Amino acid sequence: MSSKTDIRSLTKEQLRDFFVKNGDKSFRGNQVYEWLWSKSAHTFEDMTNLSLETRKMLVEHFVINHIVVDNFQRSKDGTVKNVVTLHDGLIVESVLIPTNSRTTACVSSQVGCSLDCLFCATARLKKMRNLNPDEIFDQVSAINDESLKTYNHKLSNIVFMGMGEPLMNYNNILLAIDKITSPEGLGMSPRRITVSTSGIPKMIRKLADDEVKFNLAVSLHSGIEEVRNKIMPFSKAFPLTELKESLEYWYSKTESRVTYEYVVWKGINDNREAIDALVAFCKNVPCKVNLIEYNSIDEPDFVQATDMAIDDYISVLEMNDIIVNVRRSRGKDIDAACGQLANKTI
Ligand code: SAH
Repeated sequence: MSSKTDIRSLTKEQLRDFFVKNGDKSFRGNQVYEWLWSKSAHTFEDMTNLSLETRKMLVEHFVINHIVVDNFQRSKDGTVKNVVTLHDGLIVESVLIPTNSRTTACVSSQVGCSLDCLFCATARLKKMRNLNPDEIFDQVSAINDESLKTYNHKLSNIVFMGMGEPLMNYNNILLAIDKITSPEGLGMSPRRITVSTSGIPKMIRKLADDEVKFNLAVSLHSGIEEVRNKIMPFSKAFPLTELKESLEYWYSKTESRVTYEYVVWKGINDNREAIDALVAFCKNVPCKVNLIEYNSIDEPDFVQATDMAIDDYISVLEMNDIIVNVRRSRGKDIDAACGQLANKTI
C-alpha cells in the first residue's frame, strides 16, 4: 500500500491550495477535481489537458486509490455482479439490476458485516473494515458506466443493500451520497437513493437530525420481538419499541415514508399472528412493505414460504390500507441477489 495521500480525500479547496502552494494557479485545482469526480479518472495520465509536468508532480505527491472492477458475472435476467477489488486487496461486490425502465445499482458499504442475521450470507464474513466514501462512489460510478454502455441510459436508482450495514459506516455513506448527488459528481437526485438498515435506532435518529433527503428502508422481517431477536440476534440490543420511536422521529423530521423489507419464511413468520404484528407495526408511521423473496443460502431453518402465505400477507395488509409490493429476486443464478453476496467467486 502506498504512503502517498489519496488525492480524492482532498476537498476542492484543498486541491486549489495545493496548486497555489506549488506555484500554479488555483484554477488547476478545479480542473483536477473535475477529472477526479465528473470524469472519474483512474490515473493521472488520463488528465490529458494538464501539462506533463503537472501530471508528474501529481504522481510524486498523490495516488488515486480507484477500485478495480475485476470480473463480472451476468445473470440470465440481465443482472450483473461486479467483483470489486479495493486498494488494499480486499474485495466487495456490487450489483447492476436492469429493468425495462430503469437501472438500479446495489452497492456495498462495508467489507463483510458485523451483524449476525442468520439468513444472510454476508453475515458469515467477518467485518474487515468500512468502505471509504470514494470506494462507495466508485461502485456507483462503475455501474453508471456499465449502464450507459449496455443500456444506453444512465443509472436511475441506488440501493445500499449490498454487503454491510450502511448506518454503521454513517459518515462515509453520507459523504459518498453528497458526491453522488452533487453536480460535480453524478448529479443524481437523493430521491432515487435508498439506504437500507437492519434497524439501528440511534442512527435512524441521526439521519433525521441531519435531514437527509434520501429514502430509508428498514429490514424488519418480524414485528414480534422474540422472533426478530432469534433471526437477527444483534437486535436484542435494539427493542422494537426503540426502533418504532426512532422511526416516528424520522417521519416527524423528514415526512418521508419508510419502506419495510420483509421476507416470509415457512414456520417462522407465515402465520396470522406475524401478519397482525406487521400490520400493527405499520400503523406507527406512513410506510410501505416490500415482501422480498428469500434467496437460499443453504440454511436449513430458512425456507421461502408458500405463495398462499404471501397472498395472506398481501390481502391483510391491503385490507388495512398498507401499500405492499412483492419483490421478485434478481440475479439468483449468479449469487447476486439480496443476502447472497459473500465473495464466493474468490
Ligand atoms: N444491512 C442492511 C443492508 C444489507 S441487506 C440491511 O440489513 O438492511 C439488504 C436486504 O437483504 C435486507 O433487507 C436484508 O434483510 C435482505 N436479505 C438478507 N439476506 C437475505 C436473503 N438470503 N434473502 C433475501 N433477502 C435477504
